[in-house]
Amino acid sequence: MKFLKILHKLDERFEPKYKIQYIQELPVILRERVVYIVGNKQDPWLLAFKCPCGCHNIIQLNTLKSASPCWSFTVKNKHFISVSPSVCRNKGCRSHFFIRKGKVKWC
Ligand SMILES: [Zn+2]
Repeated sequence: MKFLKILHKLDERFEPKYKIQYIQELPVILRERVVYIVGNKQDPWLLAFKCPCGCHNIIQLNTLKSASPCWSFTVKNKHFISVSPSVCRNKGCRSHFFIRKGKVKWC
């Protein structure tokens, strides 16, 4: 039991996490494992990142409350982003996942 716990901890440590990058405009080429927070730092309007399933599609999430659907996010310790609600792609790869503290949690 203890051993499993240690393994789990190691696994968490090496699991790749999304980094964040504040940016004024959406870049043409997006890097892997980066969530771009697009717009004014205090009032961003978009989150953009590559789909974690490896399909290379770019996922864009609106963060403006005046439009829908709308996602909200929090950033812990200036690094780790959590996004809610979950991301569900109804096109292409149909991935459904959460981003919690920079990590992808598959549904
Ligand atoms: Zn995908």
